[in-house]
Amino acid sequence: MRTVQDIRAILYLSEDRDNPIVRRFLDLSGKEIIECADDGAMEKAAEDVKARGIASKEAVIFKKFPGRMFQKCPGSPGMICCNYLLINIGFNCLYNCTYCYLNYYLNSYGLVQFINVEDSLGEIESTAASNPGTIYRVGSGEYTDSLMMDAITGIGESLIRTAAPYRNLFVELKTKSSNVRHLLDIGDRGNAVLAWSLNTPENINLYEAGSASLEERLDAAEAASRAGYLTAFHFDPMIIHDGWVDRYREVVDLLFRKVNPDRVAWISLGCFRYSPGFREIIREAFPGQALTSAELFPGPDGKYRYLKHARVEAYRAMAEKIRSYSDVPFVYLCMETESVWRDVFNVEYKTSDDLERAFSSHLKEKFL
Ligand code: SF4
Repeated sequence: MRTVQDIRAILYLSEDRDNPIVRRFLDLSGKEIIECADDGAMEKAAEDVKARGIASKEAVIFKKFPGRMFQKCPGSPGMICCNYLLINIGFNCLYNCTYCYLNYYLNSYGLVQFINVEDSLGEIESTAASNPGTIYRVGSGEYTDSLMMDAITGIGESLIRTAAPYRNLFVELKTKSSNVRHLLDIGDRGNAVLAWSLNTPENINLYEAGSASLEERLDAAEAASRAGYLTAFHFDPMIIHDGWVDRYREVVDLLFRKVNPDRVAWISLGCFRYSPGFREIIREAFPGQALTSAELFPGPDGKYRYLKHARVEAYRAMAEKIRSYSDVPFVYLCMETESVWRDVFNVEYKTSDDLERAFSSHLKEKFL
């Protein structure tokens, strides 16, 4: 698994020298430290380190996020989405998943780490406090991996401590790493959720370069669960390969050998999908990959997916397998159509709000 040890250069603005996140990175040994007077100097410094062969995923660039850090997941038009809330903590990732939509941004350079995340904590608190009857699910893993450098940034701990007094606030830290040790001793963690994206060992090997192995992820999840955290799991993207449905079901068995299913808050399922133009990008960036050789077809949102019957069969098999262990985790589909929801779960969700309502009442029943 790639870690902060793999970072070779650290770039920051002089005005941010005393920021606590920047300070902690400056204490790391063996890194090239580049302090820049202003944004222009930072851009030039980034070009320079790039020209000297330091790869995009080997350089951390500290920035203040200029926009709103806390917003609703945009979802996908015509699809039922779960109305998740997002906090932007960074952009880019230490890992190198073939299917990651960050591959759209191959021209941008560096692991951008936002250093003003604390600014959005008050907004999260006031949102949760002013609506105690509303469940909020908030995550930070939209444009990065929530825990890849978290032992150094300390953002996860801040989020957990901020959210802990509000039982209606489920902060989810989602990762493909095994970096949880630094979070295990936090006293009151409220309804914080430590979450892992899971895949079959074959697909992790083929398409999730630099991330933790399945075994490492499950060991970390076991440690989190034993420490009393709620956990969550995301089988997304599920990728077709020989015997894929059985192989994914085996991962569920491995999971529940280690993790108490009755302390799992939710599990999402989603099949591999991509927007037009993405196939060409990954064919160029990952020559020889087999991911794009399967047949996919455009859906109502313009994204390409496997045929509906294959998706429905896989989701049904997974939902049945999960429920053979427990009905506590809320099992849901990520960015699927109304008709797939109906065929898999026999439910009628006309809008994303319908799903959000069902999700919230399930969490209230099981965890509040
Ligand atoms: S771990 Fe997530 S953010 Fe990182 S490369 Fe993989 S899919 Fe992208």
